[in-house]
Amino acid sequence: MAEENIFSKIIRREIPADILYQDDLVTAFRDISPKAPSHILIVTNVLIPTANDVTADDEAALGRLFTVAAKIALQEGIDEEGYRLIVNCNRHGGQEVYHLHMHLLGGKPLGPLVA
Ligand code: AMP
Repeated sequence: MAEENIFSKIIRREIPADILYQDDLVTAFRDISPKAPSHILIVTNVLIPTANDVTADDEAALGRLFTVAAKIALQEGIDEEGYRLIVNCNRHGGQEVYHLHMHLLGGKPLGPLVA
């Protein structure tokens, strides 16, 4: 069983977060340390530690990350200018919280993707 983490507590509303959206599969909330004017995290409700751990059973939740990202991008008014979706994996990917999540970043030009 994977270890509980801060995102599990946010999903269960045990600790505060600026939650924008929640359904049976995913929860979206504003990043506490935003790297762009819009910086939202969309997390799977079920605890999947990293992108390495996804299985076919997770496909509905993983697809939902994208449909919710599109919905929130529209709400944030960044859909036309554009945005970036990122999933970090493990140490070299810069993953800090081991609960699979998609970053939605936008509201300014983000520049080229550099390592
Ligand atoms: P990652 O490096 O992909 O694991 O991203 C983790 C993200 O979670 C970082 O951008 C953090 O700023 C963000 N974060 C950590 N704790 C919280 C929290 N309590 N509420 C909202 N965002 C958080």
